[in-house]
Amino acid sequence: MVRVGVFGAAGRMGATVCGAVTDDPELELVAAVDPHHGGGQVCGVDVSRSADAMQAAGAEVAVDFTVADAARENLRWCADHGVHAVVGTTGLTEADLDEVRARFDKGKANVVVAPNFAIGAVLMMRFAELAAPWFETAEVIELHHDNKKDAPSGTAMRTMERMASASDRWGADPTVTTVVPGARGGEGPAGIRVHSVRLKGLVAHQEVLLGSTGESLTIRHDSYDRSSFMPGVVLAVKAVADRPGLTLGLDPLLGL
Ligand code: NAP
Repeated sequence: MVRVGVFGAAGRMGATVCGAVTDDPELELVAAVDPHHGGGQVCGVDVSRSADAMQAAGAEVAVDFTVADAARENLRWCADHGVHAVVGTTGLTEADLDEVRARFDKGKANVVVAPNFAIGAVLMMRFAELAAPWFETAEVIELHHDNKKDAPSGTAMRTMERMASASDRWGADPTVTTVVPGARGGEGPAGIRVHSVRLKGLVAHQEVLLGSTGESLTIRHDSYDRSSFMPGVVLAVKAVADRPGLTLGLDPLLGL
């Protein structure tokens, strides 16, 4: 049995992770941490305000679905206390990841950071990367629920980074006049345009549009429910102890 603690346990994703851990016969939920929601219970485990509850409960792996500022602190705590970390929180920068890599390389614990734990979304990113060299224009539309705090999504950023690495032949933006500022979206890696939609009723969705002479390709992924992320989270929780240092994304865990 792997002993698991969850940071952000009272949040939407954190509470779903607590349920997935409880339902898995190889995992045991031993700690739930959420600083503003202490005192309650999630899946029969008391919610604590402090990370020290992880250590007190003997957590071997800590899962973090919080906000970037909190995740930075929680990751430092995990590295310093030898607790493996699985991180889904988005909004971490390249500089943050450099710090995470350096800290975990020095210590005994390992870390998996994935901007998207839905296996279909991981495949979408891979497919977009494979298609990139064969098209001259591309735009990314990411669509999320109306409570999402960061834009664009971590998945959109990662998708564009991978497409930019796969091809640097992207056409220039033809726009001469912008009537409404922002109408052409944000400019991501290699100038790929990204559009962030926030709408009640949505969960997490993304379209990658690629265009070339006389044809286009649309790659779309939809997470209809937070349960879509759980197989990937559980996979990472079980694998993290055997993956030294920082593992970025689920691809290596899926053999991609
Ligand atoms: P949420 O419902 O707002 O949950 C975040 C929770 O973390 C809240 O309960 C928050 O408390 C708590 N928190 C804040 N600081 C904390 C700390 N220092 N230690 C422990 N808990 C802390 O948000 P969500 O929808 O679950 O999303 C959480 C994160 O997961 C976001 O970054 C989102 O983009 C990301 N996400 C990733 C994936 C993926 O597959 N990688 C999928 C979905 C979402 P307060 O509300 O009191 O601040």
